[in-house]
Amino acid sequence: EEHRAASVRDDILKSTKAAKSNKSGGFQSMGLNQDLVKGITKRGYKVPTPIQRKTIPMILEGRDVVAMAKTGSGKTACFLIPLFERLQRREPTKGARALILSPTRELAVQTYKFIKELGRFMELKTILVLGGDSMDSQFSAIHTCPDVIVATPGRFLHLCVEMDLKLNSIEYVVFDEADRLFEMGFGEQLNETLHRLPSSRQMVMFSATLPKLLVDFARAGLSDPVLIRLDVES
Ligand code: ADP
Ligand code: MG
Repeated sequence: EEHRAASVRDDILKSTKAAKSNKSGGFQSMGLNQDLVKGITKRGYKVPTPIQRKTIPMILEGRDVVAMAKTGSGKTACFLIPLFERLQRREPTKGARALILSPTRELAVQTYKFIKELGRFMELKTILVLGGDSMDSQFSAIHTCPDVIVATPGRFLHLCVEMDLKLNSIEYVVFDEADRLFEMGFGEQLNETLHRLPSSRQMVMFSATLPKLLVDFARAGLSDPVLIRLDVES
């Protein structure tokens, strides 16, 4: 009896240690680039949130993903961690490789800051393309050969048309706050933008709710998407 109790105690002790050292189910177990892990740690993240645990491995596998989880659940890192893992090093000769579309300027700026923080030990170049800013400064920014573009949809499409931008190098596309993108009426611009992107791109959409417009769009524009629904926001 005593022996069995001791062995149970040992098991509990072991599992607690494993959880603390963050080897099982932690960021460490995701096989990420060490510079990225340093950035995540520096940002103060010790363990992934539930939506991060579910979506990051799927996105790393290259799947298209539609993910729904409530505000504050940590969705930004869900799409940024795989972005950093995929891009790793700057390849200015290639042209931009990732595009993140946000419904508002404020959100785009917030995402840009997130990129600077999580990616502080990586060398990727990111630019902002926002409605309301000068087009001229955006022409120059595009010529600096960024790896990542964070943009609002209307201005991004406008810039594509004006500059006759080739988007052949884009391999990873994010719709952040996708429900708001559609509620704000960006559907048509998003469609037109998608037609300009290579069909081989990976697409991920993050949202707090799943309005019909978003679901229809995902059915048409994504390839065999995985739907990850964490909880419903009332
Ligand atoms: P959402 O987009 O789902 O509303 P955010 O990505 O804005 O959520 O994250 C909400 C807050 O949680 C932010 O302050 C973010 O830095 C923090 N956060 C995200 N992931 C983690 C984590 N794994 N550990 C601790 N804090 C986190
Ligand atoms: Mg968010």
